[in-house]
Amino acid sequence: MKTISVVGAGISGLATAWQIDQRLRGSGMDYQLRVFEAGPGVGGKIGAAQRDGFLCEAGPNGFLDSKPSTLALCEELGLSDQLLRSEEAARRRYIYSRGRLHELPGTAMAFLRSGLLDPLGKLRILGELWATPTAPDADPTVAEFGRRRLGAQAAARLLDPMVAGVFAGDPERLSLTSCFPRIAELEQNYRSLIRAMLALQLQRRKHSPGAGPAGPGGTLTSFAGGLSVLPETLAARLGQQLVCNAAVQEVSRTPTGYQLNFGAGRPPHDCDVAVLASQACDTWQPLQALDAELSAILQQFEYAPVAVVGLGFEQARLNRQLDGFGFLVPGEESRKILGSLWTSSIFAHRSPPGSVLLRTLIGGARAPALAALDEDQLVQLARAELSAVLGIEAPPVFIQVFKWPQAICQYTPGHRDRLAAIERRLALLPGLFLTGNAYRGVALNDCTQNASVIADQVTGFLHAN
Ligand SMILES: Cc1cc2nc3c(=O)[nH]c(=O)nc-3n(C[C@H](O)[C@H](O)[C@H](O)COP(=O)(O)OP(=O)(O)OC[C@H]3O[C@@H](n4cnc5c(N)ncnc54)[C@H](O)[C@@H]3O)c2cc1C
Repeated sequence: MKTISVVGAGISGLATAWQIDQRLRGSGMDYQLRVFEAGPGVGGKIGAAQRDGFLCEAGPNGFLDSKPSTLALCEELGLSDQLLRSEEAARRRYIYSRGRLHELPGTAMAFLRSGLLDPLGKLRILGELWATPTAPDADPTVAEFGRRRLGAQAAARLLDPMVAGVFAGDPERLSLTSCFPRIAELEQNYRSLIRAMLALQLQRRKHSPGAGPAGPGGTLTSFAGGLSVLPETLAARLGQQLVCNAAVQEVSRTPTGYQLNFGAGRPPHDCDVAVLASQACDTWQPLQALDAELSAILQQFEYAPVAVVGLGFEQARLNRQLDGFGFLVPGEESRKILGSLWTSSIFAHRSPPGSVLLRTLIGGARAPALAALDEDQLVQLARAELSAVLGIEAPPVFIQVFKWPQAICQYTPGHRDRLAAIERRLALLPGLFLTGNAYRGVALNDCTQNASVIADQVTGFLHAN
């Protein structure tokens, strides 16, 4: 009998285990699959607090439907009819700059009219057509790439908040190629992002004439019951194969594979294949005795902390309509938050009738110490910032704080070299696989896509050995 262990029941581990199970079921192979999760429940970063009619997500609030992997997983699980698309108004996104909110322009005309950049900043963007291209083997930071191609102002007011929104990161310390591979690819293929955008728009019109402008990367999608529906369904399908409260402390080699050690209270578990789907910051230690070099590479991965402060208010006590996705704050502003997402305007039924729900993000690589404040201080800080930006003075009717000391992996320059070094070490450790948001994308779509890739590699390995 072949034995497979997956460590970690976040979306990466659960989706990988499910895909392996799907491929092996009916293949004629006799196998035993186990998923070991350190915590009492599943989902990792996915979770929510639900009370008094509010549903406040702890981490991600959705995935984009512009990539197929998570949608396909939902389809396989029979969840397609439970999917919830974001409201039309959520296409409107704001950037806070110089004392007020600016709508992120979605068209060239809106861009020209927008006050987000001054006339020189707008003109400089045209210079993108002639900007010095990135050398093929260079690994620029997002900030350097942005300044070179789009100018300092656009880099600070457009790229920087995007980096805060996706990575809670510092653009001066993140690799463009590893964080935004699509942008790097477009620059390489078209030698200009403007040229790439025009060419892609032309292609879209050719293939679907009459189509309107595409939203920013698709439509955010979740479930009426919140994103937890996905990991909970996966857990239910895996059934007895899932073991919670089982933190792997050490992985060691056996003559035929690996042994997972849990410390006192749980016997070790032997397996032919071990897939580690825990964050790199939780993976280096269990691997230290097995392969010190691999462990040392994983130890270099940096994480940014984030605190999420969910606040509910009575709509009638606000003096503005929350008519969009929310706002992000560029680092050049002297504000103390990364941004605020207007949850109840993004998805229906996230707050009771007559109320609104906002999730304010604090900390990130920009201000890690703020993410470590205690809950009362975080609520005070979020309220003060929402008062300054949105004029909200009303007392909240719902409060929920989530703290993620290691929220999001930061793909710093050298990331792709580290991935190559990891691959070289794994080649010496047949049957050991690493997956999760530390390596090839932090979005849920990346995690589910990697799950299929790893499941193919695992089943290939099992059939060959
Ligand atoms: C605040 C926030 C907002 C986000 N928003 C979005 C969004 O809107 N859209 C989007 O696409 N992405 C978003 N992301 C990113 C996305 O949520 C994550 O990248 C993704 O959920 C990571 O999943 P994972 O399974 O790789 O890791 P995790 O969710 O971290 O899961 C890892 C699991 O491994 C377990 N584990 C760790 N060590 C061990 C051990 N030794 N033994 C056993 N188990 C162990 C942990 O307990 C955990 O359950 C957001 C992230 C954060 C923090």
